[in-house]
Amino acid sequence: MDFRHTQEQQDWKAMLHAFMEKEVGREYTREHDANREFPEDVFQKIAANGWLGLLVPEELGGLDADPVMFAIFCEAIAKYSLDTAACIMTSMFTATNIAHNGSDAQKQEHLQPFLEGRRKFSISISEPEAGSDAAGLKTRAVLDGDEWVFNGNKVFCSGAHLPGTVIALLARTSEDRHKGISLFLLPNDAPGVDIRKLSTIVRRSLGTTEIFLTDCRVPRDNIIGDVGEGWTYVNQHLEYERLSLAASYVGNARTALDDTIKYTKERHQFGRPLSSFQVLKHRMAENECELQAARLLVYQAATKMAHGERAIKEVSMAKVYAADVAYKIAFNGMQALGGYAQLPEYDMERYFREAKHGMVGGGANEIQRTIIAREMGL
Ligand SMILES: Cc1cc2nc3c(=O)[nH]c(=O)nc-3n(C[C@H](O)[C@H](O)[C@H](O)COP(=O)(O)OP(=O)(O)OC[C@H]3O[C@@H](n4cnc5c(N)ncnc54)[C@H](O)[C@@H]3O)c2cc1C
Repeated sequence: MDFRHTQEQQDWKAMLHAFMEKEVGREYTREHDANREFPEDVFQKIAANGWLGLLVPEELGGLDADPVMFAIFCEAIAKYSLDTAACIMTSMFTATNIAHNGSDAQKQEHLQPFLEGRRKFSISISEPEAGSDAAGLKTRAVLDGDEWVFNGNKVFCSGAHLPGTVIALLARTSEDRHKGISLFLLPNDAPGVDIRKLSTIVRRSLGTTEIFLTDCRVPRDNIIGDVGEGWTYVNQHLEYERLSLAASYVGNARTALDDTIKYTKERHQFGRPLSSFQVLKHRMAENECELQAARLLVYQAATKMAHGERAIKEVSMAKVYAADVAYKIAFNGMQALGGYAQLPEYDMERYFREAKHGMVGGGANEIQRTIIAREMGL
């Protein structure tokens, strides 16, 4: 087995890291996190480079990148913050859903504006009573003449409040647990939509929201694909989303560990650098092993997907392991930086907050383990 990237993949990685250093950087990330501000100019530069279309087929104007190239992208854009990565990636999955399952009219209306950076998407699955049990969602969609009418309450819909955003809304069209769920496109300024920002400790740049839908109406054609197929469509999307999350945890954990190494070499106590104390050295060595293992799980899953093979187990393995490793690295970084870890200018507290969210967002660790166990026949 050859564990190296091809030359094309290495060039892609080098280009992305150069972009992150030049166009994003630490200060910019810190400021946007502190101010809870969306990195609009970075989003626009990524659009201008055509990278928003990584998961969109070429005939629809995208780049149709394979999952390995996509994982390299996600690893790189999470270099400074998982939140920055989420600001870019969140829209991409709905664009893919429209490309694969939407009508010609939906493709025409939404894809080009998205590729040009003029449209964003968010995905609304979670509800106050339906988190891990996502299929237990209750928000209603009822057909009334030529319109769908929505009533219900969604929660944690990231980016739904941003100007010009279209929400991919999962709502119930019948009582059947899975086949009673459909997927809709809901402009965030439609009448009957009330969006309230939540004051979370993570995703401060993207922002996450609660949505109240009261007799909210959209045209009949705003359904994606067929009635009752929403669960299937979103699950296709979740495989990509979880791969992207796992890759981004690895990318951010690399920076967290590098920052820890750098700090412990520079900081002296008892007349020696912290890095000369064996307890710290061993901890960092162990984290290095775990990070490399997490990375291999990510590229194992991506490679399987690139070959068109089913990779549900591999994707969940990569996600749960990378989330745990990223958290462990940030947790150890918090200890190694001592009191300075508490200051935003050292970035570690952000890695720590965001890594903790990685153990819940996009399907909690316990749920990933349940999926792996199911795939093992347990
Ligand atoms: C910042 C942020 C952004 C988010 N963005 C989005 C978004 O854009 N769109 C969206 O739809 N959702 C979003 N979410 C929601 C996220 O997907 C859910 O928080 C997550 O799925 C967990 O659901 P929950 O919070 O309701 O926890 P719960 O489901 O209540 O789980 C609580 C705990 O119980 C455990 N648990 C639950 N069921 C089981 C079980 N069967 N076996 C063992 N343990 C179990 C969980 O693993 C977890 O540890 C976001 C959440 C946050 C915090």
